[in-house]
Amino acid sequence: MPEDIQSRYRAIINRIETACLDAGRDPSEITLVAVSKTKPDSLVLELIETGQIHFGENRAKALEDRMESIKNETVQWHFIGTLQSNKIKYMAHRVNWIQSVHKIKALEEIEKRASAENREINVLIQVNISDEDQKSGCDPEELEAILKAAQNLNHTKVKGLMGMGTLTDDPELVRPEFRKLREYRDEYRHLEGGSVSLDHLSMGMTNDLEVAIQEGATMVRVGTAIFGERNY
Ligand SMILES: *Cc1c(COP(=O)(O)O)cnc(C)c1O
Repeated sequence: MPEDIQSRYRAIINRIETACLDAGRDPSEITLVAVSKTKPDSLVLELIETGQIHFGENRAKALEDRMESIKNETVQWHFIGTLQSNKIKYMAHRVNWIQSVHKIKALEEIEKRASAENREINVLIQVNISDEDQKSGCDPEELEAILKAAQNLNHTKVKGLMGMGTLTDDPELVRPEFRKLREYRDEYRHLEGGSVSLDHLSMGMTNDLEVAIQEGATMVRVGTAIFGERNY
């Protein structure tokens, strides 16, 4: 892996473009979310200068600190980690996307806080698509009720679904999981309306973004390939 972040960043842009070409898709359909968790602000700032806009953190406190220390109006901040409803109040004043909503209760809390801040927050509903016991995301059977509850919100805009594939070194093993997420999206398209649209599919990370793009991802969340290995 090249040492400096600029060349790693160019390499990941290349991977996305190549994957799109292979899949017959337009690279402009893909939003790259740079996952900066545990990495210093200096690297985030360097990427912002390069033109990167979307950044993701998986811990509420880390996101809060990042949004506080990097005051940049053009950056779009994403929360991508396990969402606890009592942490929403710490991010509602600035977060742009919460990718990991899996309960109606969290939707209601986001609505309350976004309304108080008089702003809109984009949301993805996280669906459990992996076979692992440590489940993250809602059960697919819960999707319908969650999407219906979201239709009448005003400050909370559902934009699609998010999924995490099973952790494995073989991206082909997660292909059926990503495909399932797209199929759930297609299945629930009829619930679009009001504050619900389902155009986005957030799936794919460093090891499996090509497969995710082939299966219809519109957002990929990439940490390691941009920022280097993490210490945990
Ligand atoms: C850490 C993380 C990523 C990025 O993973 P890499 O393998 O480092 O690219 C993506 N999504 C979520 C939810 C994460 O926590």
